[in-house]
Amino acid sequence: MADKKLVVIGGGAAGFFCAVNAARLNPELDVILVEKTNKLLSKVKVSGGGRCNVTHACFDIAEMSKKYPRGGNFINKAFHRFFTTDTVQWFEERGTRLKTEADGRMFPVTDSSQTIIDCLLKEAGRYGIGIIMNTAVISIRQNDEKFQLELSDATHLGPDFICIASGGYPKASQFGWITELGHSIEEPVPSLFTFNMPGHPIRELMGVSVENARVKILGTKLEQEGPLLITHWGLSGPAVLRSSAWGARELAQKNYDFTILVNWLPAYTEQQMAEKFKSLRFEMAAQKLGQKNPFGLPQRLWEFLLSSSGVDIEKRWAALTGKEQNKLVKNLCNAEFPVKGKTTFKEEFVTAGGIKLSEVDHNTMMSKKVPNLFFAGEILDVDGVTGGFNFQHAWTSGFIAGESIAAL
Ligand SMILES: Cc1cc2nc3c(=O)[nH]c(=O)nc-3n(C[C@H](O)[C@H](O)[C@H](O)COP(=O)(O)OP(=O)(O)OC[C@H]3O[C@@H](n4cnc5c(N)ncnc54)[C@H](O)[C@@H]3O)c2cc1C
Repeated sequence: MADKKLVVIGGGAAGFFCAVNAARLNPELDVILVEKTNKLLSKVKVSGGGRCNVTHACFDIAEMSKKYPRGGNFINKAFHRFFTTDTVQWFEERGTRLKTEADGRMFPVTDSSQTIIDCLLKEAGRYGIGIIMNTAVISIRQNDEKFQLELSDATHLGPDFICIASGGYPKASQFGWITELGHSIEEPVPSLFTFNMPGHPIRELMGVSVENARVKILGTKLEQEGPLLITHWGLSGPAVLRSSAWGARELAQKNYDFTILVNWLPAYTEQQMAEKFKSLRFEMAAQKLGQKNPFGLPQRLWEFLLSSSGVDIEKRWAALTGKEQNKLVKNLCNAEFPVKGKTTFKEEFVTAGGIKLSEVDHNTMMSKKVPNLFFAGEILDVDGVTGGFNFQHAWTSGFIAGESIAAL
């Protein structure tokens, strides 16, 4: 009997992981990878600022699954088959060691995404994977036992198995060639973006960051704590990126026009801060407000908060009026900022939405609608917060798809 053929659609992290593992686990399988552009693994290359944040040093499945605003349950089950520990081991066994940074992000020890690319390309070479580039798959039909793939160069392929690993598409219309197979999608919306505050004076503090702030989005339940960074455009940093991920749909509905409340010192509520001020006024009575801030906030931010509360930096603590104090306390614990628009986060962004998870078997990544059709990576309605979670999903789903196909 002739060898069975697998066509993987998309030369990204998920496609490569599916292809190399399927070919390795079943040497009889003929594996071809089709990539629309003239580049392989292009997102891996630019990811993590050129260093590739491969995964996250979280070794607890339940904890890890909480980092996915969409698809947490699905990925939780899949992690039982291939988890972060497996990713670390997989790369290590192939001579690519990873290291962990203080915030849990894992990178290759070389600090270069090219190391990950080289590792995957070497595996593809070792298992003789055929690669077709500059060619898109434009339609899929199933004839009896086989598929009929139409490619953009007017040629055709007739594989037994397909894995669609074509990444996230920003527009629903781009899923047309997949929905024609009977699959449905969750509407795509961007995730992992920063907040624009056009014209707001705080932008003059660009580059200033605080280690831990709380960001709430008014009129929603969205609330995140973490590092916050002031940029040339508005606000960024993990607290904002996580808010954008958890709020991807809600914020899209608001057309990225909303108000946020920032607590620069989340250890205090507004009320607790008012109490704290009573003792500060006493302890620091003779000192000038602008001279030293008692909270360890960056000095430029402290001065900004004073001036936006109408407090002269030369004023002494004892002379602070009740009105000024109230304003300052509010600006420290409940500062209101209008957000208008978003900016794509350069280090990592993803599309939320994609193939509906109820139509895919998490044990195999096989379609429940079309036998022998598999999915892996961002095309699925799974997305994580920033920190290596999106690549981990690509490795997990790519591995499971590859392993399942190899077993068939
Ligand atoms: C700038 C940036 C930095 C990032 N950094 C990180 C990070 O450090 N850590 C992290 O976890 N995540 C990161 N991410 C997210 C991560 O890159 C993605 O989640 C991941 O690449 C998804 O992998 P994928 O294989 O599913 O899709 P992709 O990497 O998007 O690959 C899909 C491929 O399919 C091809 N394709 C599409 N349609 C067709 C078709 N019809 N026929 C043939 N080929 C097709 C595309 O050209 C593409 O090459 C980053 C994303 C960006 C944009």
